[in-house]
Amino acid sequence: MTKYWSKMVKRATPYVPGKQMDGENILKLNTNENPYPPSPNVFQAIEKELKTSLQLYPSPTVQPLRKAVGQLYDVPEDYVFIGNGSDEVLAFSFMAFFEPGERIVFPKITYSFYEVYATLFNIPYEQVTLNRDFTIPIEKMFQADGGVIFPNPNAPTSLYMSLDLITEVVEQNPHKVVIIDEAYIDFAKESAVKLVHKYDNLLIIQTTSKSRALAGLRVGFAIGQPQLIEALVRIKDSMNSYTIDRLAIVGAEAAINDISYTKQSIEKIIQTREWASEKLREMGFSVLPSQTNFLFAEHYLHDGLTLQQKLQAKNVLIRHFNVEPIHNYLRITIGTDKQMEQFFNKLQKAMEQM
Ligand SMILES: *Cc1c(COP(=O)(O)O)cnc(C)c1O
Repeated sequence: MTKYWSKMVKRATPYVPGKQMDGENILKLNTNENPYPPSPNVFQAIEKELKTSLQLYPSPTVQPLRKAVGQLYDVPEDYVFIGNGSDEVLAFSFMAFFEPGERIVFPKITYSFYEVYATLFNIPYEQVTLNRDFTIPIEKMFQADGGVIFPNPNAPTSLYMSLDLITEVVEQNPHKVVIIDEAYIDFAKESAVKLVHKYDNLLIIQTTSKSRALAGLRVGFAIGQPQLIEALVRIKDSMNSYTIDRLAIVGAEAAINDISYTKQSIEKIIQTREWASEKLREMGFSVLPSQTNFLFAEHYLHDGLTLQQKLQAKNVLIRHFNVEPIHNYLRITIGTDKQMEQFFNKLQKAMEQM
């Protein structure tokens, strides 16, 4: 059956996303989606666009969304690249900046898509073992052969790295691109975007999927100096000039421009995160200090996989990764206060059955 497959297809080991189970009674805390809807302006903008211009191709340069992202971070438009979800921006970045034969570096415990892309594009990689407290030993990412990529905050550990340490990683890789995947940065202390003015080898990637509640619209972006952005544009325009459709452009623009709504929704999630981590601690979990919209926690007594399975039997989805040294940990997306109360009820029951 596979006789017509290219070597690339044979080599591919596709990413496995968290389950998307639909159903009324599912409490879905497994893919770090936002529990709140996007800004109401998003619906208005999409409706308007829907009624007027679907017969026309969208803007190949993704105006006016680039402008909105530029204004958000106070960078010129030519510092901004827009992609169909940050996963696409990441894939293009691997093609644009990393080279077969030159080893890139990323943490051993991190977003598993990096390994998927590296394998697909034939880029050798080294996975840096985390410190015992799950922080990233930055010195192991110095002078990387082919470049560096990691999320900040890291996933699934939820831990944030300070801009001083990020600066060091960037300075210690003067000839290669350092990519910081800031998927969760809006729930954390501060973005590294401001460093792009000083460092021409730094690329920041963000998404509208988490803090702006637009996982279903598929819009991510990169910020970096124009040379880097131009490389991404060259890759995109060699594959598909129109990766972002008209509805996504106006929807994401409306979300990005509604700063007060985004801020409110982030603040609510952070508040819930703080009481939920306290509650988990009271129940015997050790919880890493999260700067994301999820918690990463381990029970001192109960096995992580068993807990996850028992919760799944009760229609509660959370994520478990069957790898060392995190096989006992659970990743729990922050829902609304009400969802978290339901979660704790079910968790209590699951633990009573063990
Ligand atoms: C969610 C996530 C992404 C993907 O975001 P999309 O924009 O929805 O493709 C990228 N990186 C990390 C670390 C994530 O958690």
